[in-house]
Amino acid sequence: MKLKIDMHTHTIASGHAFSTIEEVAAQAAKKGLRMIATTDHGPAMEGAPIAMFFAALLMLPREIDGVRLLRGVEANIIDFDGNVDLPSNILKRLDFVMAGFHEVVLPPSDDVAGNTGAMIKALSNPYVDAISHPGNIHYPVDIPAIAKAAKERGKLLEINNNSAVVRPGSEENCRRIASACRDLNIPVVCGSDAHVSFNVGIFSNAIRILKSVNFPDDLVLNTSVRKMTRFLDGIRKREP
Ligand SMILES: [Zn+2]
Ligand SMILES: [Zn+2]
Repeated sequence: MKLKIDMHTHTIASGHAFSTIEEVAAQAAKKGLRMIATTDHGPAMEGAPIAMFFAALLMLPREIDGVRLLRGVEANIIDFDGNVDLPSNILKRLDFVMAGFHEVVLPPSDDVAGNTGAMIKALSNPYVDAISHPGNIHYPVDIPAIAKAAKERGKLLEINNNSAVVRPGSEENCRRIASACRDLNIPVVCGSDAHVSFNVGIFSNAIRILKSVNFPDDLVLNTSVRKMTRFLDGIRKREP
């Protein structure tokens, strides 16, 4: 399975990452990727950009070094009501909006019902396209319920390449998420979650997880630019 798109990349703007957008794009081009989404952390995380940064993403070119560039964010889920840390008027102008739990923003809870409710409410935000690293072991959720909610809303769950490494113990959850999506016949999105350019396009863990549950290549949106853009267009009308 060849993944041509990396939908989860950070730049130096995140405050704890190391590469510029030019460096990220250059590595993506070098590795033969066709498209990347730049998804810095939302403003609620210490050191992350201010809200205006995400409005200013429209100044970025649509393509760098032959790699199509999606303007995105990894927003923070800031409470158990599923609110995120950017207003709709900014989110609606972005090409790809992920939302996720981060320990430094929302202290982890082992309340499965509470975590599940928050994730489903975030998925219900009309401008949230995907949940980042839903397998994070620190926020246990009802995986079948999350997958069903994603299906009903036509949204995506991410298979995050980093979870197996930086969130130890999460791999089994990632496998269960992949299985649940496979059973419901819904696509997934893969992200390297690169915090340095060299890690852009590295999907070895994500691919191992998908293969371990016989996940169909067809349902991995990262295999085709056309498939990915068509799916995103189906979620909502993107503003120019
Ligand atoms: Zn994250
Ligand atoms: Zn990230």
